[in-house]
Parts: sequence; structure tokens; C-alpha cells
Amino acid sequence: MLSVTPIPALSDNYIWHLEKDGEHWVVDPGEAEPVYDALQDKALNGILITHHHFDHTGGIKALHNHYGCPVLGPESIKGVTNPIAGGDTFLLLGLPIEVWDIPGHTLDHLALILKEESPDGNVQPHLFCGDTLFAAGCGRIFEGTPKQMLHSLQELTTLPKHTLVYCAHEYTLGNLHFAHTVEPGNSAISERLVQSQTLRQAGRATLPSTIAKELATNPFLRCQIAEVAQSGAHHLGRDTYEHLDEVEIFASLRDWKDHF
Ligand SMILES: [Zn+2]
Repeated sequence: MLSVTPIPALSDNYIWHLEKDGEHWVVDPGEAEPVYDALQDKALNGILITHHHFDHTGGIKALHNHYGCPVLGPESIKGVTNPIAGGDTFLLLGLPIEVWDIPGHTLDHLALILKEESPDGNVQPHLFCGDTLFAAGCGRIFEGTPKQMLHSLQELTTLPKHTLVYCAHEYTLGNLHFAHTVEPGNSAISERLVQSQTLRQAGRATLPSTIAKELATNPFLRCQIAEVAQSGAHHLGRDTYEHLDEVEIFASLRDWKDHF
């Protein structure tokens, strides 16, 4: 049985800790100390990296030196010992994992999809999406284009609806406030806001999410919904979304959220 738990790091990052049969991996260690604290005397077997930003890679050197473990990630990142790229498939923790290219936030950004099969034959996918897909939001577009980012997000939504989504930041409450502003008529957003506030008040993570929850509440995945498109058009100073395409609506929402 695979267990996945968040290790809070820096101001609002999560380093995801994967454990199965006594083997331990972490995803995107922005710093090393919280990983030492979480593992205590247990050994780290490996590190996975989604993209090059320092809050995802800052702990690589110390952890690699301490544990001597492999570091899997984009080839361009310093400290990566085993480069991986979109299209790769291999076994991790005895489970099949797929690597997808999802450029937009950065050009080197990878998605990691681990597939866990239960004894009854059902498959539970686990998606590690770094800073591309957030609960009710998406990452800023630092290196790619809005078209690339939207395409990457849409690729992720082709995963099964029950896929567990492990985002790299606790941004959920802020994202839901924005989502509610964009789409005030969507009751799933208000309900998720109440549930997420309860979790945060109890000191718990609002993650993992699922693809189903994101399709229902994430404005960046709902640009084709009339109310979302109308809000996007309004942000551009337009009366109607009629002559805007999906990428223009998406870009408008992303720009709006950058200044929200
Ligand atoms: Zn980032």
C-alpha cells in the first residue's frame, strides 16, 4: 500500500513524501531540514523533481549528499543524477510511473503519474503536478505561453476523474476566493471553500485534490462555461465573450489572478 503525505516546507510549499514497503521517496524538496525531520532515522531512497524553481530544488544537494540517493528530474537541473523526460515510463516503488511534459509555468515542467493497482484490479492514479495545476487554480506563466499552459492543463484533465492530485503549494483558499469572484453562481466553489476553511483551521492540508473536483471548481479548466467566459471578457473590458477564443479567456483569467 502506497502512502503519500505532505511535508510542509518554506512558507507554503508541500514536499510530498511517498512510502511503500519501507521505501521512501520525496517530490520537490525545496529544503532538506523538514525531510530529515519527517524521515527521522529512515533512509531516503530517491528524489523526484518537477521543475527547476528553487522552492522545489533547494534541498537536492544536501539530501543527495546525506543519503546518496538518485535524483530524477529534468536534465537541465543541477543535481539531477538520472534525467527523465516526457514519454518515459519506468517502475518506482514497484509501481508504474509515467512522465509527461507539461510546459507553461516553466518550459522544463514535468508531470509524474504513479499508478497503483489494488488487488481487485482497480487502478488509482496519483498525479504530482508541481506548480502547473493547483487546487482551484494554476501556476503563473513564467516561461511558456497561455496556449501552452492551457494545453498542459487540459492534458492533465484527460486522467481518470478519481486521480489524486498532489499540488506543490497550499494556495487553495486564495484560489477559491478568486474562483468565486469569477463564477459566483457555482455552488461547488462555495462548498469547497467551506470544506477547505475547516481543514485549514484544523491545521490540515487541503490536498490532495482530484481531477473531478478541479473540473467542477477550477476556473482555469472551465473557460468554456458561459459565466467564466463572461467574467474573462469583462476583465478585458469587453461586453461579451462572443469573439474570444478559449486561450484568450484563459489568458485573461491568468492576468486577472496575477493582480487579484
Ligand atoms: Zn515553480
